[in-house]
Amino acid sequence: MKNEITIVGAGLVGSLCAIYMTKRGHRVTIFERRKDLRSEIITAGKSINLALSERGWTALKKVGIDQQVMKIAIPMYKRIMHDMGGNLSEQPYGNQGQAIYSVSRAQLNVLMMEIAEKNGATLHFNEKCVDANLEEAVATFENTKIATKQEISADLLIGADGSLSAVREQMVKKYQHEYEYNEIGHDYKELLIPAGENGTHLLDKNALHIWPRGNFMLIALANLDGSFTCTLFAPKKGKNSFEGLNSKQEVKNYFTTIFPDFVCLVPNLYQQWSTNPTSNLGIVKTFPWHVKDASIIIGDAAHATVPFYGQGMNAGFEDCRILDKLLDKHEDNFEKCFHEYSKVRKPNSDGVQDLSMQNFVVMRDKTADPKFLLQKKIEKKFANLYPEKWTPLYTMVSFTNISYADAWKIGMKQEKMMQSIMSTPNIEEIWESNEIMQKMCCLV
Ligand code: FAD
Repeated sequence: MKNEITIVGAGLVGSLCAIYMTKRGHRVTIFERRKDLRSEIITAGKSINLALSERGWTALKKVGIDQQVMKIAIPMYKRIMHDMGGNLSEQPYGNQGQAIYSVSRAQLNVLMMEIAEKNGATLHFNEKCVDANLEEAVATFENTKIATKQEISADLLIGADGSLSAVREQMVKKYQHEYEYNEIGHDYKELLIPAGENGTHLLDKNALHIWPRGNFMLIALANLDGSFTCTLFAPKKGKNSFEGLNSKQEVKNYFTTIFPDFVCLVPNLYQQWSTNPTSNLGIVKTFPWHVKDASIIIGDAAHATVPFYGQGMNAGFEDCRILDKLLDKHEDNFEKCFHEYSKVRKPNSDGVQDLSMQNFVVMRDKTADPKFLLQKKIEKKFANLYPEKWTPLYTMVSFTNISYADAWKIGMKQEKMMQSIMSTPNIEEIWESNEIMQKMCCLV
């Protein structure tokens, strides 16, 4: 039995993993590079917010903390699209009552660290992992305040230290694990729509707002305090890119022409623009995710993805649940468990990365395309008539626990079929007819 566990990183996945491991009876110590977030007053609008969906909830439920998280979450039942003229159209995410949830990353992180601590985990802050002996589960930490180093020995080392993982770096360096990092050609910047009078929301808070503009987009998710955290995703270079957005006038012109109904909601746009950083986005691929029975990586450390399906954290939470399930299956034989964990999770992380890239095109481009919206309506009608034959891709990813790898495979097959349906003459007029539903029955 492995008693002592060191977790590197007290982010969302490290904290949840600590809760799972304390519940299994292990002594867990977490070392976090940053200072304790709990020492700061968290303003919802000062953190990015994330969409939490079924897989995330399933993992939280398994350790009995979903209700606590629900208290800081806002349901989003639909997308609302804002066109260049400020006109709105909407598309439900699922069936009646189905929602994904907006949650502040910082608030969620604080809550999860508190729960981990209550469950018996010990947390140390300002401790940066700088080296590790992965076969011995020994990690070296440097205190970022007083620059002292210490070596911590445990029975198991878990790297939950995000996309720039120091634990993964050791796996790659010392064990030649496969590793690839691909940055995409788009960057992002956060902007805030402040709350209206008395903390009211200036847009519908129960929707994810999208300003789709071809190869770029702006999105907004509600916060509990009435504000919205918005993110502009735009190319690094070229037309409509960050490159040309430097002076106050350039920023003003860009937003006034391209996002006219957004600009009037943000009084201090340029101040935010010049203060908030522009950050890049990329995909981490690595394999395997373990060294013997002594070290593993989890969450973004193993499979960071781009945020366009809102699945990075959800996939990391799912890692924790599956790891726990595999430990049960292998009766705490860590070596067997980790071997299967790497093998089973890798195709799913590939799946979620493919899905994330594909959904970028859907969000920024297709949500403004009437033909795409019609295709989604047809799929929905067919799914409601024949639920055993068809689950829409978005539903598979966001409202079920079907593996990402399967969702991706089925989704690609469905897309091919739908191309054939959409090429039916007059599809706009006859899409609700029996003929179309029958044609789909024959194709599935
Ligand atoms: P992290 O959150 O990165 O946490 C890692 C922790 O480890 C941090 O606390 C860090 O300080 C610490 N650390 C790092 N290095 C060291 C070290 N050497 N020593 C000690 N500690 C260390 N996901 C969703 O599911 N839904 C969304 O809607 C969504 N939207 C997103 C929007 C944007 C703009 C971005 C960038 C991401 C989004 N994500 C979303 C992804 C999500 O934020 C990540 O998948 C999630 O935070 C990963 O959690 P993690 O704990 O694995 O890593």
